[in-house]
Amino acid sequence: MEYQNVKGTHDIILKEARYYQAIESLFISLAEIYGYNEFRTPIIEPTELFSRSKNDSSDMVRKQMYTFKDLADRSITLRPEGTASVARAIVNNKLHAEQDFPIKAYYLGPVFRYERPKAGTYRQFLQFGIENIGVDSEYADVETIILSYRALKMLGFQKLKLKINTLGDSESRENYKKALVKYFTPLIDKMCPDCQERLKLNPLRILDCKVPEDHELTKKAPRIKDYLTLSAAERFKKTTELLDEVGIPYEVDDTIVRGLDYYSHIVYEYEYISQSGLNVGALGGGGHYDNLVSEVGGPKLAGVGFAFGIERIYSLLKEEKLLPNLHAGFDFYVMPVGEACIKRAYIVADYLRMLGYKADAIIEKKSFKAMFRKAEKHEARFSVIIGENELKNNEVIIKNMDTQEQKTVKNTELKDYCDSLFNDHECHCHDEDCECHHKK
Ligand code: AMP
Repeated sequence: MEYQNVKGTHDIILKEARYYQAIESLFISLAEIYGYNEFRTPIIEPTELFSRSKNDSSDMVRKQMYTFKDLADRSITLRPEGTASVARAIVNNKLHAEQDFPIKAYYLGPVFRYERPKAGTYRQFLQFGIENIGVDSEYADVETIILSYRALKMLGFQKLKLKINTLGDSESRENYKKALVKYFTPLIDKMCPDCQERLKLNPLRILDCKVPEDHELTKKAPRIKDYLTLSAAERFKKTTELLDEVGIPYEVDDTIVRGLDYYSHIVYEYEYISQSGLNVGALGGGGHYDNLVSEVGGPKLAGVGFAFGIERIYSLLKEEKLLPNLHAGFDFYVMPVGEACIKRAYIVADYLRMLGYKADAIIEKKSFKAMFRKAEKHEARFSVIIGENELKNNEVIIKNMDTQEQKTVKNTELKDYCDSLFNDHECHCHDEDCECHHKK
């Protein structure tokens, strides 16, 4: 019986997994440079961590969570996002007690949402995110934008669109929500059932509606900028000035409200449409929050963060032919010529691995031709051939798979010879653009 993976999930294997690793390690190393520390929080969390309020209006909390009872009848949820878990970890581990702010966290791992699967949308997907918690300032807000913008540029995205908006402070939002209720109440019967619900729970969410007819009606809705308090408007002004100062292009889009209830002040999203028109939805986004940490039992600490979906980044890099040139092959592929040489080949491969080279040995009887085919398939740079003569004379033949040059090397000189192959600062790939570590 062959089993299929669960709908909306996918296997990330072989070369694709290497590309994922490359994307993830770029995010991680940049976050480290900016002083963020890794937070590895559990994938399962108490359901209440996400559905903190009965009136939560986000689709994610209301409709998309994988929630189940464990054997002790506790309600458990597979995390649908990372921010609440980071806030919980800070509070549970009393990281705020040291008063050493900001607390800078990054995370990487799977998140789960019961969404309709389509290109770029899965039910289990990978998010990389950062949170900067404890310093309530536009400098912290903008730092997360700088980091995310640089990461996307370093990955190779050129014509990025960064859309920003402000949701103001709570007073601004309350005034704005009243204006939205007034505007939408006479129209709501014409709108989708979700928007009818949103009008009661959080009218801001209506701006996020993807139904085209509803979208038309939102065009003439009141705009948040007309309802900002003086201090919220001032803060947004300082934020945009800082973005100008650091040279990050953006577009103010006052329909961006983001999917979660906890945001205030700046919210942002990155959009990227490929040359061929592929749009998999936002690459990533983030925003500022004032009350999340206190809502999960901690002190009142503001925070700001972003999350990116690795799948969407990978699929767009692939579509745009921007994936890096990865050499995933072996440095050495050891070939025993005849059964008697298998043990030596096995030991030589292990010796090469101890020296730090990526190596493998063939451990079953195969023809010469079949062994070379395998070496080529696995993109070996050098093959190491051991026949009966070599076995007897304690030596091996090392053959450059590219140039076909070969040399007999004594076992006692193997380390020095191998090191010379990889340290002579010459590229053996004969490829102008190659990034291999042979190059100077
Ligand atoms: P969000 O937490 O909704 O702000 O999402 C942050 C990022 O996660 C998005 O910009 C996407 O890149 C990614 N993402 C969100 N939902 C999905 C999904 N269902 N499948 C794949 N990636 C997603």
